[in-house]
Amino acid sequence: MSLFLTAQLDFIFFFYGLAFILLGAVCFSVARGAEARTSRIDLLGWFGVLHGGSEWLDLSALVIDDAPGFQALRTAVMTVSYLFLLEFARLAAIRLGAKLPGRWVYIPLLLTIAVIGVVDGQVSANIAARYAIGFVGAIGTCAVLVIRARTVEIISRRLVLCAALCFGFYGVAAGLIVPAGEFWPASTLNQNWFMKLTGVPIQLVRGLLAVALAVTLWSAWGRLLAITVDSKFYTAYLRRHFLTTLAALAVVFVGGWALTDFLGGIYKDNIQAEAQGDLNLLVARLSGETATVEAMVKALSGSHAVLSLLTGDSRAPRAQTVLVRNVDASGATLGQILDASGSVVASSDDRELKLLGAPNAATASYFQLAMAGGEGRQFVQDAESGLAGYVASYPIRREDGVVVGVAMLKKSFDKLSASLQTFDRPFFFINSDGVVMLSNRPDTLDRSLWPVRTRVTLAEQFGASGGPPMLASEITTAAWTTFDGRRGYVLRGAIPQSDWSMLIVSPLAGMFASRFLGIVITLQLALSTLFHFLGKQHGVRESLQMQRRADLQVLADNLEVKATTDPLTGLFNRAKFDLVLRHELIRAERYGTQLALIVYDIDHFKEVNDAHGHQAGDRVLVQLSEIVSCEIRQTDLLVRWGGEEFVVVLPATDGMTACLVADKLGRAIAQATFDLVGTITCSFGVSDFVIGDSVDTLLARTDNALYRAKMNGRNRVEFAPASPNLAPTLELR
Ligand code: GH3
Ligand code: MG
Ligand code: MG
Repeated sequence: MSLFLTAQLDFIFFFYGLAFILLGAVCFSVARGAEARTSRIDLLGWFGVLHGGSEWLDLSALVIDDAPGFQALRTAVMTVSYLFLLEFARLAAIRLGAKLPGRWVYIPLLLTIAVIGVVDGQVSANIAARYAIGFVGAIGTCAVLVIRARTVEIISRRLVLCAALCFGFYGVAAGLIVPAGEFWPASTLNQNWFMKLTGVPIQLVRGLLAVALAVTLWSAWGRLLAITVDSKFYTAYLRRHFLTTLAALAVVFVGGWALTDFLGGIYKDNIQAEAQGDLNLLVARLSGETATVEAMVKALSGSHAVLSLLTGDSRAPRAQTVLVRNVDASGATLGQILDASGSVVASSDDRELKLLGAPNAATASYFQLAMAGGEGRQFVQDAESGLAGYVASYPIRREDGVVVGVAMLKKSFDKLSASLQTFDRPFFFINSDGVVMLSNRPDTLDRSLWPVRTRVTLAEQFGASGGPPMLASEITTAAWTTFDGRRGYVLRGAIPQSDWSMLIVSPLAGMFASRFLGIVITLQLALSTLFHFLGKQHGVRESLQMQRRADLQVLADNLEVKATTDPLTGLFNRAKFDLVLRHELIRAERYGTQLALIVYDIDHFKEVNDAHGHQAGDRVLVQLSEIVSCEIRQTDLLVRWGGEEFVVVLPATDGMTACLVADKLGRAIAQATFDLVGTITCSFGVSDFVIGDSVDTLLARTDNALYRAKMNGRNRVEFAPASPNLAPTLELR
C-alpha cells in the first residue's frame, strides 16, 4: 500500500497543489464582498495560490532533475505562502483585540530561516519555516476562526468551524510532521515516521485537508452568493450546481489518475522488459566466461600428460606445457594440477612452485568437490584485484576410475569488468551476502547492497569502507523501490549453479515524465470542467438578475398605468387629466397657442340605472367612451372625470372649433344605440383658454357652461367665454 502510494506521489502533489490553488481562487472571489474585505480573506487567497504553486514545483522536481537552487526556490515559495497565512491570523487576532507585534517581526524570522538554510542546508531551512511560520500561521488561523464562528449565524458557523478544524489539522500535518532533519524533533517526528506508522505519505493527508478546506470555503462562498441574490430558485440551483461540479471534478480526478497510472504502467512495462533483456545479456556474458573455463578444465583433467604426471611418470615438463596452453586458451589467470593430498604438482605460474614452495589446497572446497568426484564451480574474490573471479575444478581419474588428483583453472573477470564499464545502466554482480563483487559503479565494490545480519563479519572481511547499504532490504526477484536514495526498478537474476547473482537498476525519472502527460491532461480537464460549471453558474445568476430587473420594469409600468387609468372605461383618469391640463396650460400661455375644454354629462343617467340596472349603466359608460374616443383627434385627451361626467382636452383648438367638436360628439352619441338601453343623450359645456386662466378658472367656466346646457334643456352644447361680453352663447341646437 505504502509503496503504491509512494509511486503516486506525483499525482498526490498535483492534486494537493490544485486543491490549494482552488482554495486561493475561492478566497479571492469571497474577498470581493465588502464584509470580506475587512477580514482580509485575500491573504488566505495568496496563501492558497502560492502554496499550491510550491506543491507544483515539488511535483516538477520529481520530473526534472532536482538541483540545490531549485530546492531553495521551493522552500522560499513555501515560506512566503506560510507568511500570508500567518499575516491573516495576525491581523484577525489584532481585530479581536489581541496585542501582537507589527509586521517587522517577520524580518528576524525570515533572517533566521535564511541563516539556517545557509549554515545547515535547505532541508533544515524548510523545517524551520514549517515550525516557525507554517505551524504558527495555521494554528493561529484555526484559533481566530473558532472565535469568529461564535459571532456568525448558525449555518455559516458550521462552515467556519469546519474550516477552522481543517486549518488545525493542516497545521499539524504540514507544520509538525516535517521532512526528516538532523535535529530534534524533526529527527523523530517526521514524514518518514508518519509513513512507517500509517503507510500513507503525509502529502496525501495534506492534500485531502486542502480539498476539505477548498470545499468548505467554496460552500461558504455559495452561501454568500445565495444571500446576495436572495432567490429560492437560485439557492436550490446553487446547491445542485455545487454537487454536480464536485461530482464532475471527482470523475475528472479519478479518470485522470487512471490515465496517469496507465501511462506510467506502459512505461513501467517497458522498463521491466528492458531490464530483463539487459539482465539476460549480462548473465549470458558471464556464463560464456565460466563455460569456457569449465570446458577447458575438463579437457585438462582428461589430458594424458596430466595423468602421467600424477601417476609418477617422469614426463612432467609435457604436463606443464599442456597446462600453460590450457590456461592461455581459456583466458584463465591460473591453472594448477593437484595431487590427492592437495599439493600443487604443476602450476601455470611457476613462482607458486619455485618461490613460495608448493602450497596445499587440501581444505579448499574446489579441491574437495573434485576429489569427491564432482565438478567444482565457484565464484571467488581475487585477493589482489578485489574483483570477482571464477574457479573451476575437475577430478583427474586413473583408467580404473579412481580419482588421483584435481585439475583447477582460475579466471579473473578483470577483462569482463573493463568491457562492461560502459554498460548503460548500473549492474551489480553480488555474492550470497549481497556484497558487490563486480559492477560498473566502482564506488560500490565490496559494499553490501542490503543490510545483512552478519554485519560485523562483513566489516571484518571487507573493511569498514563499505558505507550504508543502498537498499532497505534484500530483493529476491524484482521490486520498484528506492536504490541509493533514488526510486527505480531493481531486478535480480540468479547465476545458474551458484549462489551469486546479478542485479540491475533502472532509474524511475523517465516514468514521472510519462506520467506527467496524464497529469497535464487531468489539469486541463479539471480546469475546463471548473470554467464550464462556474461560467454556467455565473450565467444563471446574470439571467436571474436580468429577469428580475425586467419584472421590476413591468411592475413599475403597471403601477403607472393603474395610477392614470380608469378601470371601467380604460380612459385616463382625473390624476392624468390634472397633469396634462396643467402642462397644456403652461404651453398655451408660453407659446400663445389655443386650448379648449369640453365637459359632458349623460342626461338622466340615474333613470338609466334605475330602469336597467347598474351593470347596464356601466356598459353604457364603456360604449360611450368607445364612441367618443373614435370621434376625437389623437392629440385630444379624453378623461373620465367621475361618474357619468367626461372631459376632453383639445390642444391647439379655439373655443368655436371645440363647440363644433362637442356638437359632433352630441350627434354621434344621440345616433348610437346602446345595448339594453337604446339611445341616450349628453349635455356639453365648452370653454377655451385665455391668458391668466388657471386650471381651476378654466374648469369652473366649462362646468358652468355644462350647467347651463342642463338648465337649457339638455342634449345641447353651451359655450362659456372668459368674459360674458366677449362672446354670445352659442346656440348650436
Ligand atoms: P342629469 O345629469 O341629466 O341632471 O340627470 P342624472 O340622472 O344624470 O343626474 P346625476 O348626474 O345627478 O346622476 C348621476 C347618476 O349617475 C348617479 C349614479 O347613479 C349614476 N352613476 C354615476 N357613476 C356611475 C357609474 O359608474 N356606473 C353607473 N352605472 N352609474 C353611475
Ligand atoms: Mg352627473
Ligand atoms: Mg347626468
